[in-house]
Amino acid sequence: MPKVRIQDDLFNYVNGEWIENATIPDDKPTAGGFADLGVEVEENLMRDFREMCEKNEYPNDYLKRACDVYKALMNTKKRNKEGIKPALKYLSKFSKINNISQFNRNLKDLVLSNFTLPFRVYCEIDMKNTSRYCIFVQGPDTILPDTTYYKEERAQQKAAILGLWANMAQAILAKTKLSPEEQQQYLADTLKFDEIISTLVKSSEERSEYTKAYNPTKVRKVCSLLKPVKFKKLLQDLIGEVPETIIVAEPRFLQGFSKLFNEENFTLYKHWAYVRELLDLTKFLSEELREIGGSYRRALQGIAKMANVEKFSYQMASALFSEPVGLYYGEKYFGEEAKKDVIEMVHQIIDKYKERVANSPVLSQPTRDKAILKLNTMVIKMGYPDKVEEIYDKLVFNPEDSAMNIALALTTIRIEDSYLHYKETPRRDKWAMPGHMVNACYNPMTNDITFPAAILQAPFYSIKQTRSQNLGGIGAVIGHEISHAFDNNGTNFDENGNLNNWWTKEDHKRFKKSTNDMIKQFDGIELPWGRVNGALIVSENIADNGGMAVTLNIMKDTPNANYEEYFINWAKVWCMKAKPEYQALLLNVDVHAPAILRANMQPRNFPEWYETFKVTKKDQMYIAPNKRIVVW
Ligand SMILES: [Zn+2]
Repeated sequence: MPKVRIQDDLFNYVNGEWIENATIPDDKPTAGGFADLGVEVEENLMRDFREMCEKNEYPNDYLKRACDVYKALMNTKKRNKEGIKPALKYLSKFSKINNISQFNRNLKDLVLSNFTLPFRVYCEIDMKNTSRYCIFVQGPDTILPDTTYYKEERAQQKAAILGLWANMAQAILAKTKLSPEEQQQYLADTLKFDEIISTLVKSSEERSEYTKAYNPTKVRKVCSLLKPVKFKKLLQDLIGEVPETIIVAEPRFLQGFSKLFNEENFTLYKHWAYVRELLDLTKFLSEELREIGGSYRRALQGIAKMANVEKFSYQMASALFSEPVGLYYGEKYFGEEAKKDVIEMVHQIIDKYKERVANSPVLSQPTRDKAILKLNTMVIKMGYPDKVEEIYDKLVFNPEDSAMNIALALTTIRIEDSYLHYKETPRRDKWAMPGHMVNACYNPMTNDITFPAAILQAPFYSIKQTRSQNLGGIGAVIGHEISHAFDNNGTNFDENGNLNNWWTKEDHKRFKKSTNDMIKQFDGIELPWGRVNGALIVSENIADNGGMAVTLNIMKDTPNANYEEYFINWAKVWCMKAKPEYQALLLNVDVHAPAILRANMQPRNFPEWYETFKVTKKDQMYIAPNKRIVVW
């Protein structure tokens, strides 16, 4: 294959050869960039878990408990012997619930054990007043990954994917004590109930506008919409009071709730909940059930094989004890020198951001002042936290218990704990991501940015890389996270993380126009796996745009700046080879643009791209100056 020209396709120019030769691990949907770093972190920590267990020596009690979970899962002999029994025993209690009044009597326990309910309720920070918590209500998830799969025009695809799911469910139900007729009935009812849900809950695109989840509603109204659920009693049971206002994340769902859940439909609900709960539990049961129970997810993502026992046990244990594992990882694998260097870079980027806002030719002074205030108060969380959250002291369990019971016990402790804090002021120093996660994020409600230790590695960052390379890598990622404070969602929050409109009308109109331009720049692009939905990915594209704008600005002041290195490393961090099934799935549900577009779209909005590689009208990666967008 002749090598592509950089002016036509930066992504393939940088990554093409690697992608051609790379093999995607059997148990993963992707390889390259983020995924490879993730594999490396996983290998290091798996080795450490193995050693800790062998020597029976643990750096602290948290890691000991994480290893207890790991050992319970590693014990395939016990899991295989127990088979489906632990799940059937657990579900037998639910099976005795035969009508809505019995359901109401058990509702608190069902909520606290995270049981599959016809609606979801949870305690979260109040978006409009982040110094307190409130109660949210929303709909359950559909079986298919997004409600758009249920649309008429996708009937064929829907049937195919639901068929995969139904095969899996059938195979699992065959292991229960239900008669073949009952199994068929359970399955049919589950699909019927799911179909109703799909008409009521939000699509991925709707959910991506997360500020629209904030719909404060009088509790009296919520109670009447949730009828026949005894919602007031549930609130009393969970938090000891009935708040005046409930946040309805999905108004359409609540409006239609009565046609989903009523005395007549109770059996539909019951069978749906039973089947979904049972399938969900298979991952903690025997190896055979874990294999069958994961087949649908693997098919959706194009994954060939399930993770081996050791990897799976590590993944589960480290997810249940994520913060202590992240802290352990950070302390062991992350250098203080790197931390200092990256923090300095963050400050530099925030300062440059302020300068850009202060000198913006389009923003009015009041809007500039507010944006700068938000940047001045932004908190940086770098590497890993100083100590783990208190909740981890409460996560105790009987290590001799079945793996499933251990996992359920830990979930219940977490949920109970979330309601215990209802009357307290939410803490702002909590970390949104653990240290061993290869990712980064911005939290609009605390106005902070988090960079776990695991992402602070090459190609994103290395002390050995040039400044230009680091700016194209972690620099652009830092700029990206800061820009989330000013994307189409984040921009609705003020410096304290409260939903609060700080814009002048004129400025907001202009910002809306940039948002629409960014939607159009991506919308409808045809890829081998499907068509891009510009609205679904607009917030992430605004963030990429802001990250590139601010780092290119810093390049101007950088001695010996090398723009080739900058753009090449930018493309390198987005290097990804993925299974086509996974690519197609992401197009439907992921708020990020596909990797190739992240690499190839933003550079063309900036003059430095054209100057560095002499890109002209004749090249693929050219767009006319009047089509170029710089949002911030
Ligand atoms: Zn982002």
